Amino acid sequence: MNSPLIKIDDKHLPLYRIVWVSDVPHFCGEEDCLHEGEYEVRLDIDDSVWANRSERDHVIHALNGWYGDNSEPEKGDWQ
Ligand SMILES: [Zn+2]
Repeated sequence: MNSPLIKIDDKHLPLYRIVWVSDVPHFCGEEDCLHEGEYEVRLDIDDSVWANRSERDHVIHALNGWYGDNSEPEKGDWQ
């Protein structure tokens, strides 16, 4: 069964709250930036969480599955 939740960093998030996922690592040039090299996962209520690359890829995969993109079927999840 496909879970509607995904774990990013230390948080379990419902997939429906995700608005977009960054394609490239964050860079803003701030010296004290805590998120350089991480991938921003934007949430609906003016909030973001931060993922490393493999977490980011996992988020996109989960979103594709959740929205019913069958081009990359989850093995054993649906049927
Ligand atoms: Zn930054």
